Amino acid sequence: MPLHRFARHLTARYRLPAGEWKDVMKSIRSFNACHYIAAAVLVAGYFWASVPVGLESSAAGGEAAGSKPRAGQLKCGAAETVITRVKDRPEVYADLYARAMVLEQGPRRMAIVTADMGTFSYAYSDVLVDAIHKATGIEKQYILTCASQTHNAPGVDGRQMSATSKTWLAGEMARLVKRASENVRPATLRVSRAPAQIGYNRRLLRNGQVHMAPNPEGAVVPWVDVLSAYDEEGKRIGTMFSHAAHPVIVHGSVDATGPDFPGYAIEHLRKLLAPKGEADGIFMFTQACCGNINGYPLRGGIAACDAAGLSLAHSVTEALDKEHEISPGAVRSRSMTLSLPLQDPPSLKECQEVLAREPDNVRYQELLRMAQSGKPPELLFPMHAIAIGDDVCILTFKGEMFAEYQLFAEKVSPFKHTFVLIHVNGIGPYVATEKAYALGNRGGYEAWGFMTSRPPYMPFHRDSEKMIHDGIVQLLGALKRGE
Ligand SMILES: [Zn+2]
Repeated sequence: MPLHRFARHLTARYRLPAGEWKDVMKSIRSFNACHYIAAAVLVAGYFWASVPVGLESSAAGGEAAGSKPRAGQLKCGAAETVITRVKDRPEVYADLYARAMVLEQGPRRMAIVTADMGTFSYAYSDVLVDAIHKATGIEKQYILTCASQTHNAPGVDGRQMSATSKTWLAGEMARLVKRASENVRPATLRVSRAPAQIGYNRRLLRNGQVHMAPNPEGAVVPWVDVLSAYDEEGKRIGTMFSHAAHPVIVHGSVDATGPDFPGYAIEHLRKLLAPKGEADGIFMFTQACCGNINGYPLRGGIAACDAAGLSLAHSVTEALDKEHEISPGAVRSRSMTLSLPLQDPPSLKECQEVLAREPDNVRYQELLRMAQSGKPPELLFPMHAIAIGDDVCILTFKGEMFAEYQLFAEKVSPFKHTFVLIHVNGIGPYVATEKAYALGNRGGYEAWGFMTSRPPYMPFHRDSEKMIHDGIVQLLGALKRGE
């Protein structure tokens, strides 16, 4: 007889009325080592036996779309670690953290890993994902490394980690995710959303030119999305919250290293939830589509950043108050890589004229090559999405997507709850809208300046927006249908 059937048989036969537990406890006190081993086998067998047989097979399949397994089948673990030693400046105003949440559904595991860092390059993200995969065995397409884009840490404005820091951080992130994956326990997931706005649209059109200044009319994503995992006793394992705003409130006012508003939000969340006894567990921030949104006030200093963190923390607690449980279902992923057109380079003649005056102009050297090739320039644009059951989806981009893309994904997503995260597994260029690209060299920093001052040296073509929209619809549709 298999062990679990044997255990089921025993537990059915010896299930005791409540009053008899006292006698059992008395006899346990007289147990020797053999008794303890036998008891452990019995208890393990009982829990194994309590998993319904039908669910075992759907868990093994992993991809069974539409299955509604019971909540206990999903497991979750979370962990955090201080990573301040990667700093590139001597002073620190608050510690930098890396945090991980691991979800396990049948044979499949996924990891959301956040870090108070500026950005991770494509190449370094590969190093991180590789290290995490090697340490945990989690498939690479289920590992999301998410930089917060704090502007007071390496990865922005040319600030770099040392080679030693890079090696150390990869090892530390791998150990962190391993710790979270070793701590998984049966869990339920809950999602929610609440109004939130700690930033503003930063693209103001004045006299036909876009300037970086608050634009009260411009698009924002006025909410915070929250995903929480709780164990069987209702204790929080982890809460991931996502909001769209550049962490640039401390930036420029204080040079020291720190996490900007995401760090303050987490600090306040713990304080706000402590009186209710709900502050345990790991809180982690993921960046949403903040390409054209700055935290407010830009360069406002530490006190202003603390206030913005408090405002966001309040929104998260509001969301936590109304969160509802989701059916875990299968965890699955889909990717899609678009080849997006860039705007046409200047004419051959113009490139040659500029290079005759400035032979060392790297941008024009590249534009000349583009013009000579006769082929319209393109740039690969990867998109990725992970579904957790039928209702929740995490759509991720590497690029700095404008808020409008999150609003679009929200509108067309076939999932009830769609998180849209950027800076995931690498940093790509800004991705603006058709309207912004139509302004050409008057399109401001994101739609012109950034893209033309470094490779690929030309911004995306205005047709890109439509192509990305179509891509989002296709990707999320296929993921939802389980294709
Ligand atoms: Zn940015």
